[in-house]
Amino acid sequence: AKAGGGRRWSLFDAELRAESERRRTLEAELRRAIPAGEIEPWFQPIVDAMTSRMVGVEVLARWRHPEQGLLSPAAFVPMAEELGLIRAIDEAVFEAACARAAPWVSEGLIDVVACNVSPRDLLDPGFSRKLIGRLARTALPATALSVEITETFLLSDLGLARRHIERLAAKGVNVALDDFGTGYSNLRALMHLPIQTVKLDRSLIDDVGRDPRVSKLVASLLHAARALGVRITAEGVEHEAQALFLRSAGCDRMQGYYFARPMPADDMESLLREMNAP
Ligand code: C2E
Ligand code: CA
Ligand code: CA
Ligand code: CA
Repeated sequence: AKAGGGRRWSLFDAELRAESERRRTLEAELRRAIPAGEIEPWFQPIVDAMTSRMVGVEVLARWRHPEQGLLSPAAFVPMAEELGLIRAIDEAVFEAACARAAPWVSEGLIDVVACNVSPRDLLDPGFSRKLIGRLARTALPATALSVEITETFLLSDLGLARRHIERLAAKGVNVALDDFGTGYSNLRALMHLPIQTVKLDRSLIDDVGRDPRVSKLVASLLHAARALGVRITAEGVEHEAQALFLRSAGCDRMQGYYFARPMPADDMESLLREMNAP
């Protein structure tokens, strides 16, 4: 039994070594990928709940890995955060996304471009100042940018969060609270910060129109948001029943596979020209 246990142990050990080897390889590849331009922005439409018109796009990072093909954020964002590489990724994605999407805004095809920022980025006291500076060097007007932050960050340093959010809002940048409904979901924070948009997390939307208690919860969140003058975007809308419920409950905007999946910039541009031409 002892010997068997030992063998199992060394097998486990070998697996651990292989895993840490894979991570080291991926880490080296990620460091190379960012300056090589392999991290690219994809786009998913955000639609107006009443008219179903595409009013904006969310920018979602993809890694075009030379051997492994297209990688989703789950495969590299957590590692990039650990390694301190997420800021470089967010900056590269932001710049590339602005270059592609600014013309869509100036041509009147869409009103808003939503970018994700890691809670790690926001720990830098200079984050908002630098972002405003970088934004000024793009062709995207400040009022067309939405910055999506998660409440994890709000809770970690409310004073710093407030400074960033107020600085961005003063420039006309929209600040959106992402993944609402997954964590502490602090409605109080919304009253005291200039946050204009809340994105209801997919985990809430999944059961909407199916589980009466979730439907009631979402309806009351929509009601509270309206009272606070906050716009609500529902994420992860996959079925017509969800869209119908959300529209009738007063949701402002929707996003999800029911409307469109994230897509490369060229496809997004064709779709906008086909559907949204003024
Ligand atoms: P998120 O900001 O909550 O983005 C929404 C995620 O839900 C995206 O996953 C999107 O593809 C997916 N999604 C949209 N509609 C549906 C739907 O109807 N059903 C389902 N099942 N999923 C849907 P994605 O692209 O894999 O991104 C995952 C997360 O990675 C994002 O969550 C965001 O937190 C992070 N992320 C993406 N791009 C960036 C980036 O450039 N910088 C940073 N810091 N984080 C990013
Ligand atoms: Ca987001
Ligand atoms: Ca989200
Ligand atoms: Ca998220």
